Amino acid sequence: MSRIEGKIAVITGASAGIGAAVARELNAAGAKLVLTARRQSRLDALAAELSGDVATLAADVTAPTTAERLLSLAKERFGTPDFLVNNAGILRVGPLETFEFGALEAMVATNYTAVVRTSYVFARAMKAAGSGVIVNLSSIGASITAPGSGVYGGLKRAVEMFTDALRIELVGTGVRAGFVAPGTTATEIFDDMKARGQPAWDSYVRPLQPEDIARAVHFMLDQPSHAIVPRLHVYAAGDAY
Ligand code: NAP
Repeated sequence: MSRIEGKIAVITGASAGIGAAVARELNAAGAKLVLTARRQSRLDALAAELSGDVATLAADVTAPTTAERLLSLAKERFGTPDFLVNNAGILRVGPLETFEFGALEAMVATNYTAVVRTSYVFARAMKAAGSGVIVNLSSIGASITAPGSGVYGGLKRAVEMFTDALRIELVGTGVRAGFVAPGTTATEIFDDMKARGQPAWDSYVRPLQPEDIARAVHFMLDQPSHAIVPRLHVYAAGDAY
């Protein structure tokens, strides 16, 4: 029997891209899913496509109560979660003359504060249960940078440092934490750049597909309890950094 079958997995940012691909991957492996994002219609369409046990919560991950609501829903429907995939994220880049401070605040709230809050809320419950795995989404942007993308990359670097510290703090509890850092992946994350007429990063290389990252997340979650994948980088072959 697979280590994923029958397990309870909570995935943020499941309405699109990598999050939706992770949902499909874990569903195919027999997991029970709790899926969240803001767009209920997208979550409903995905849930209708999947088989087995799927619950959805339409919520903004930056709202202070969302992590607790997600945990409560998972417990009510299925039990204490075995897996948390903190995937929701946004990308806003731009030159110093036009970079909007609203984009700064939204990225801090979505890409960092929500990841920390959700990790802690779930890690406490998993620690009490004596097992669990948390996977946080970092980015190639944590390791390489370019003009105008320092906020995004800096926050992803912060996610990596936070995840490493959480992993170490959880040693001996049965709860494990790690991050996956995708390279350029073809998703809607570049829509904002495209709408602003910025050359989106997925136009420079043949990008990864969301399923490539979903396989990596599956691999991280599928380790035996004595093993851990703390850091996994999956780049497009053309990501020449
Ligand atoms: P995507 O296709 O744009 O999907 C982003 C997901 O996050 C959507 O489901 C979106 O759902 C959700 N989301 C965004 N803001 C939210 C909020 N405030 N509350 C709740 N949900 C929110 O992007 P993606 O490429 O799959 O990105 C997934 C993760 O991978 C992100 O953390 C991203 O930084 C990381 N990543 C992506 C790439 C890449 O090249 N694509 C590379 C490295 C890392 P709603 O809009 O419905 O809320």
